[in-house]
Formats: sequence, C-alpha cells, structure tokens
Amino acid sequence: MKLGIVGLPNVGKSTLFNSLTKAGAESANYPFCTIDPNIGIVSVPDERLKLLGDMYKSKKVTPAVIEFVDIAGLVKGASKGEGLGNQFLSNIREVDAVVHVVRCFEDSNVVHVDGNVNPLRDIETINLELIFSDMEILDRRMAKAGKGARMDKTLAKEASLLEKIKAHLEEGKPAGSFETEDEDELNLLASYNLLTYKPVIFAANVSEEDLANDGADNQGVLEVREFAAKNGSEVFVICAQIEQEIAELDEDEKVMFLEDLGLKESGLEKLIKASYHILGLHSFLTSGEDETRAWTIKIGTKAPQAAGKIHTDFERGFIKAEVVNYKDLLEQGSLSAAREKGLVGMEGKEYVVKDGDVILFRFNV
Ligand code: GDP
Repeated sequence: MKLGIVGLPNVGKSTLFNSLTKAGAESANYPFCTIDPNIGIVSVPDERLKLLGDMYKSKKVTPAVIEFVDIAGLVKGASKGEGLGNQFLSNIREVDAVVHVVRCFEDSNVVHVDGNVNPLRDIETINLELIFSDMEILDRRMAKAGKGARMDKTLAKEASLLEKIKAHLEEGKPAGSFETEDEDELNLLASYNLLTYKPVIFAANVSEEDLANDGADNQGVLEVREFAAKNGSEVFVICAQIEQEIAELDEDEKVMFLEDLGLKESGLEKLIKASYHILGLHSFLTSGEDETRAWTIKIGTKAPQAAGKIHTDFERGFIKAEVVNYKDLLEQGSLSAAREKGLVGMEGKEYVVKDGDVILFRFNV
C-alpha cells in the first residue's frame, strides 16, 4: 500500500512524514527505510504477529508495510509549474490513497502561507491544484481519443466521457464524485489514475491541548470532519510535534507517554486504521518456524487470490486452505492441537478470507 502525503507548506507534513517513517523504521527493522528522502516504508504494528512468532519460535517476523511518499511543495499554482511544478505531481499518481495534512493549530511562530489558519480554505486550495493537474491528464487523453473518434466507436465513447468528467472537474468537484452506471466508463475513469479519484484521509494537525479529546473543541477540526463526511473521506486527529516525540521512544516508554497524554494510540496507528478502512483492506497471517508474516488483502478476497499474494504459483495451483483463527491457534498452542479440537477448517476456492485468519495453503506446483 502506498500513501501520498499532501498539504500546503508549513502545515506539518515533513514533521509527520519524518515521525511516521522513524517510528515505523525502528519496529520494522528496515536498515534503509528511507529509499529516497521523500519515500519511507513503515511497518504496520500488529501484536498478533509477535504472539504467533513467539509460539512458533519463527526465525523471522515480517509485518505488512505501508509506503509513504512526502509530496512536498504543493502550493497555489503548482499545476502551472510554480513550486516544484507538475513533475512531482506525477509522484502522487501511483499512490492508493492521499493523506491530506490540514493545519488546525495556532502558532504565531509558524507562518501560514495565506496569513491565518483556515482549514477549509486550505483544503480547497490543495483540491483545486489537484483538479487542475487532473484536467491536464484529461486534455492529453482527449487529444488522443479525439483524433480517432470519427473512425472508432470506442474512442468516440471515451471522448464523450472525457468531456463529462472535465465538466465535472470544472465545477470544482473531485473525479471521485463523478457518477455513472456504465461499467466501461467506470473502468476508463479508474484507468486515468486521476489524483482527485483517489480516496482521501485528512490528517487534522492540532495542538497538544486539542489532542486528548480528538479535537472536539477545535472549530477547524469540526469543519474538516463535516467536509470529509460529505465527501466520503476519513479524518484522524494528530499533533505532528507530539508524534515526533513518540517516534523517539521505545515501546514501553511509548505506552506510558500515550497514557500520560490520555491517548489510546499513536497517530501512526490512527492513520493505519483510517487507511485500511477507506481502502477496504484487512489482513491474514501465515506462521511457521521460518517466518510469521502479515498479508494485506481487500476485504472479500477469496482463498486462491489471497494465496496469490504470496506467490502467483500458489494461486494457479491452489487446492485448498487450512484456516484457523489466530486466537484459537494461540489458545491451543499448536496447529495440531487446534485440529484436534476441530478449530481448523479445510476451505476451498470459494472461501472468503477473514481478518486474523492464519492460513496454510495446499497447492500443486
Ligand atoms: P511542511 O512544510 O508542511 O512540511 O511543514 P513542517 O513539517 O516543516 O512544519 C512547519 C513548522 O510547523 C515547523 O516549524 C514545525 O515544527 C511546526 N509544526 C509542525 N507540526 C506542528 C504542530 O502540531 N504544532 C505546532 N505548534 N507546530 C507544528
């Protein structure tokens, strides 16, 4: 999974990005977690992995990972070549979802590019840039489809779709809210990789004081929540500065620090939950002496396709899946004990994998 972090300058993007990748790097054991200054890999905290790994005395425990791209430099006029220009916008094309950081904290020491804190105005500024950038993509596509439209019915249909999407964007609406019943149109729309077609998670960056009650007293956060609810987006409340402090701590210290602040989870954990939720994802596990590992799949994925996540041969040669819930497995202490209790299911091709399933795939090579 790949998430792109966007937002106006000085809203706390780099602070968040650095703290997320630092926190994730320590637990993930990635020696070179920062592939690129703007790309970081974060492991998904998952206590099920540690418990299963201990039970099997696994040589390796491999968490699911999320890749973060810090898309810095998105300013008014970015799509017209100001700031870093269009080149970096192409960075966001490949992400699964957009994390949009919005400044909801007051701090006279931190300059706001537009003079004062106003989350909804900031969201609109960024969204307009994303829309402009999408329009360019549509224009480029239009140049191609338009040429062939007179000779080719499919291209003619596409040209008319492009016109409709463009009109939608021109009203200031994201491509994600474009509605059509036509399957072909939907497939085409998805294939353009438009930025405003991607799911959005708003990170409302608040002060330390506003963090404990999740921004309930912060008018800006309430506005962001309302905006997100209307647009099918998720919101989570963070304080990037606190998140940076959390990233410096080890696991025990972290728990105490969060408790002191009256928090149940870190910003990283909130963000991961929000992104799994908005993308409709969950995870299954594989566990044994060699490795215990978490695999991220779409909710609703059937056993053979889940197997294909591990290796394409597993999907092609799929015979059946031995499935046990991780809690049952841990309670019984071994797969054979769980089998004896009748807690292990022998599942076929139509089995829909559940969150927390521990699976042993049987397949032909
Ligand atoms: P970016 O331009 O969006 O990447 O913003 P930065 O992460 O560089 O942050 C800009 C400034 O705001 C820095 O001086 C940060 O220390 C400060 N900052 C970031 N998050 C917070 C926060 O939650 N509270 C306060 N008071 N300052 C913050």
